[in-house]
Amino acid sequence: MAGKTIFKRIIDKEIPARIVFEDDRCLAFHDVNPQAPTHVLVIPRKEIPSLADAADDDSALLGHLLTTARQVAQTLGLANGYRIVVNCGPDGGQSVDHLHVHLLGGRALAWPPG
Ligand code: 5GP
Repeated sequence: MAGKTIFKRIIDKEIPARIVFEDDRCLAFHDVNPQAPTHVLVIPRKEIPSLADAADDDSALLGHLLTTARQVAQTLGLANGYRIVVNCGPDGGQSVDHLHVHLLGGRALAWPPG
């Protein structure tokens, strides 16, 4: 396997991140280059490169990422709404090969995305 991704290094606490939540299955931390006033990434501890690589057996974990994002949104006061994004593969704009859920909020977000 190639070297660790930047997110695996965050999981392993080799590089710092502004962590807002963590448990035995996932980690949530602020994006280093926020695209909205609140921009948090929720990642599984399990190394799944992208949504395309998730197995049917990962369903519970995928659900846990979403319920964690919902919980973080509540904690961070996103009462007016927010957006969840999962970029997948080159056409999806994915730049880090470790599955992650974007939680964006704190302003009205345009639609459709580019
Ligand atoms: P993608 O483009 O793969 O969907 O999203 C990757 C995200 O990870 C980007 O929004 C990028 O700003 C964020 N990111 C990349 N490197 C780091 C890092 O070292 N720390 C944090 N907190 N976020 C990162």
